[in-house]
Amino acid sequence: MPEAASYRKVDLHTHSIRSDGRFSPTELVDLAVEQQVTLFALTDHDTIDGLAEARQRADHHGLDFINGVELSTQWQGIPLHMVALNFAMDNVALRNIVEQNQAIRLDRARRIADLLVKQGLPDLFDEAVALAGESQLGRPHFAHLLVVKGLVKDTNKAFDRYLGNKKLGQLRDVWPELEDVLTALSGQGMTLVLAHPKRYPLTVTKLKRLLGDFKKWGGTGLEVASGNERPDHVRLLERLSQEFELEASVGSDYHGPFGPWMQVGKFTQIHESEVDLVWRSWV
Ligand code: AMP
Ligand code: MN
Ligand code: MN
Ligand code: MN
Repeated sequence: MPEAASYRKVDLHTHSIRSDGRFSPTELVDLAVEQQVTLFALTDHDTIDGLAEARQRADHHGLDFINGVELSTQWQGIPLHMVALNFAMDNVALRNIVEQNQAIRLDRARRIADLLVKQGLPDLFDEAVALAGESQLGRPHFAHLLVVKGLVKDTNKAFDRYLGNKKLGQLRDVWPELEDVLTALSGQGMTLVLAHPKRYPLTVTKLKRLLGDFKKWGGTGLEVASGNERPDHVRLLERLSQEFELEASVGSDYHGPFGPWMQVGKFTQIHESEVDLVWRSWV
């Protein structure tokens, strides 16, 4: 008999237009259903605004839907993302962090615009705010403007030349400390996952130190596959999830049809029987 989880197609990390994704929550849920996903979370950056719409559409399709959000934090000066899953919409601690991060985003955008001006570029702040509209303003909006104005060839170049963490070195320490975020959110029944752990500038030794802190401060999960993750990285993360007793989460980190590989529900295969899955306790 196959395990209960093995015939599910799970995606617990996706973005809509409410942050830096291409599609509306409704369109994204339709896409998830089209891709035969059966357990789905929307995890926009620092906002829960899209969740009600996504849940309504998921209910319409009979798709199991999990509330989610990707929170911006930092640890030892390194920006880190964590995905909170399966919280109540009226959770006050979560709402406070989201609100705080939204204020930081606006302030940070002003500072990003100023840094770009110093490098001889036009002041893009007003246009970035207008482009984001109701969505969470972020670096992808600046990247888009740099591309459409012909100032860089493509989004990658925009990050390489102007918007990457190294390039924005002067903008360190903008996000709340991981410790504070985890402490505020732990013990309230939600799942707290460290997102895409191999995307940070960390050696394995330092990653292990991070995971020790993450666990100690109340983190409960580790994203062992995030989109087009290298299989050997998935293997390493699976082992680390066992070692640190963090449940394994998975997601596409889908933002839109920006590459041939990207799709809702699509990520490097994991070894489900060798890890504790975050969704085991939900379904
Ligand atoms: P922010 O939330 O404003 O810090 O922007 C981070 C987002 O920018 C990430 O969630 C990605 O969606 C996007 N991003 C980061 N690096 C790159 C890159 N090199 N090329 C394209 N998009 C990127
Ligand atoms: Mn993003
Ligand atoms: Mn992320
Ligand atoms: Mn993401």
